[in-house]
Amino acid sequence: MGGSPHVAVVAFPFSSHAPKLLAVARAVASAAPSATVSFVSTADTLPRFKAGAAPANLRFVELASGVGDGDLAGTPPWRRVELFLEAAEAGGLKQALEMAGAAGTKVTCVVGDTFMSMAAEVGVPWVAVWTGGPTALLAHIVSDTLLQDIGEHAASRGDELVTYPGLGSYRVRDLPFIGTEHGGEFRRIMCLLFRRVAQRVPRAATAVAINAFPGLFPPDISAALADALPNCLPIGPYFLLPGTSAAADDTHGCLAWLDGRPACSVAYVCFGTVASLPPDELRELASGLEATGAPFLWSLREDSWPLLPPGFMDRAKANNSGLLVPWAPQAAVLRHPAVGAFVTHSGWGAVLEGMSGGVPMVCRPFFGDQLMNARAVEHLWCFGKAFDDDKPFTSGAVAEAVKSLLAGEEGVQMRARARELQAKVVDAFGPDGGSTDNFRKLVELLCAHE
Ligand code: UDP
Repeated sequence: MGGSPHVAVVAFPFSSHAPKLLAVARAVASAAPSATVSFVSTADTLPRFKAGAAPANLRFVELASGVGDGDLAGTPPWRRVELFLEAAEAGGLKQALEMAGAAGTKVTCVVGDTFMSMAAEVGVPWVAVWTGGPTALLAHIVSDTLLQDIGEHAASRGDELVTYPGLGSYRVRDLPFIGTEHGGEFRRIMCLLFRRVAQRVPRAATAVAINAFPGLFPPDISAALADALPNCLPIGPYFLLPGTSAAADDTHGCLAWLDGRPACSVAYVCFGTVASLPPDELRELASGLEATGAPFLWSLREDSWPLLPPGFMDRAKANNSGLLVPWAPQAAVLRHPAVGAFVTHSGWGAVLEGMSGGVPMVCRPFFGDQLMNARAVEHLWCFGKAFDDDKPFTSGAVAEAVKSLLAGEEGVQMRARARELQAKVVDAFGPDGGSTDNFRKLVELLCAHE
């Protein structure tokens, strides 16, 4: 008989990954009060995650950023990711786990972001947590065969991947970063990262948690996921796991602004934490929103504000038709009855939050899993429209898409589909729901390692 379980939850401290892992860490800590849970992330990110009440058994442990002291601000984002991964691969993760263990019981199990696949080499069981669209992980795992096949058959971008289990609804053009390293530093690093994921997950993961609920995907996709991923556990949406903090940070007054609006009248616009529209498209989107005449709430990083058309915000302020904020409590905004359409990059967090709010979406994907997510929203679940990544927004197309969701017959049908999905999300977290059941299995598995 050993000591008590000590679960280290390891974040990938870029874009929106770490908050998703923190939700898992908080839920595990709440469900297993006798276990120690260490949340492992870089020093620059930890203060944000320590804020607010935390379960007594949740601790925070530093992971090397790989960037020298004081150099963080001067290092470009892609290089930060590269330095961080190099440091973690070269023993940084192992050191952090030793540090976590030095204060009490040794780490007995790692629950790590799948991007941190070096966790496969640290000598304790590794549960990989995939935060993105699950079918993108399927594509990464078969990427070698996919690339060869696409090349040999000179596949065109519109061809469907019908011969691949679970990928038949997607096209070549929807695939995430696979194989080729051409196309810039960011792509090169991502391709290397995903190659390691594809090699390590099937061989070394004890289980793979996915940000989905049983019944979300059609049976062929669920079967392909179960087949490709060791002990695949759909426990999501992660932001709804029990024990995750419910309070919305509404510094900019978004919810109060929505309170006064009629049901389903507002377009909410947000492109996540990384993607940004090229300046031309940003202006087209702004004029398209204005042309609809509908109220809008737009979460846009402040560095893009000067790119908006002249007078855009003054006009919106003057007739109280729009609110521009640098950050919105998105999940709560999408559950607000006033929101009737969501214009988004279709990051997987956005898709799950839109679905959980029962809100139809206009998707404008950029990279990574966003293209597959947009395809699934339009073709698999039919609760939104997708723009192709190479067909940029025009003012007219934005206005038409947003109007049709807020006021058209198509919008009525898509909202009905979104609400069916919303009901499924609620069921998944009921006492006998699929995500509840899988989360229980996950906690049992983590506590079995002492
Ligand atoms: N988010 C938010 N408010 C904002 C912008 C983003 O709460 O103003 C959150 C959003 O709820 C989501 C996450 O940031 O959970 C973004 O994740 P997603 O997977 O959609 O996109 P990414 O940022 O990884 O591209």
